Amino acid sequence: MPELPEVETVRRTLELAIIGETIDHVVAIYPKLITTPLDDFLTQIKNQTILKLDRMGKYLIFLTNDYALIIHLRMEGKFFIKTDEPILKHEHVIFKFKSGKELRYHDVRKFGTITLLSKDSYLESYPLNKLALEPKDLKPDVLFNKLKSKSIEIKAALLDQHIISGLGNIYVDETLFRSHIHPTRPASSLTFEDVETILKSAIYVLEKATSLGGTTIRSYTSSLGVHGRFQNELMVHMKQGEPCPICQTPIIKMKVKGRGTYVCPNCQD
Ligand SMILES: [Zn+2]
Repeated sequence: MPELPEVETVRRTLELAIIGETIDHVVAIYPKLITTPLDDFLTQIKNQTILKLDRMGKYLIFLTNDYALIIHLRMEGKFFIKTDEPILKHEHVIFKFKSGKELRYHDVRKFGTITLLSKDSYLESYPLNKLALEPKDLKPDVLFNKLKSKSIEIKAALLDQHIISGLGNIYVDETLFRSHIHPTRPASSLTFEDVETILKSAIYVLEKATSLGGTTIRSYTSSLGVHGRFQNELMVHMKQGEPCPICQTPIIKMKVKGRGTYVCPNCQD
């Protein structure tokens, strides 16, 4: 599942390929991915030029002359740039540019979403208006105040994009390991210092992963020819049975909120 570093990597790669391209039309082969009324979407997007690519949390934002196209890749969404090649089975939405280039949205699980909003009001509209800040922008006291009323497990809280944005399963495991905090601890039990440590760890992990092009494991495979290298830096995620890099205790795997979660039972409490 693409998390913040992978989405940022997609943004940087796409930026080089499609800035300045003008959309001739869009072919919606599987229109359910488009959450805007389809006729409006297909009409409004015509002749729009891609001016800027932005990102908030795990959302990609294509800014055009009049609109903001908001895309969430969810589990398996990815993009490919092609010209006039046969359309593959999982290519569901095709953006056809006037240059002849095509941007193809590919999604095996079909969980992604594509939404077209007015450029004047997209930040105040769903889904971005519900999104919390990313670790680098979030103040420790704001996060501490959000967590202190939550009895849920800290891992579940950190996965909640209304509390903190950009962290998914991989980076929460890595963040909590670096913070020496067990993922099942109630969010409300954390001290202010714990919250400061979590934020510092999250910023480090996300920056390091982004600088390496993200993590390429299992469900997140290459898009646009990009292979991340952060999988070589993982300390606990997917390391079940391997020695903890700090204390050598074998890493265990457990379920937290239904997600496979990797923990050092000695370092994290
Ligand atoms: Zn350990």
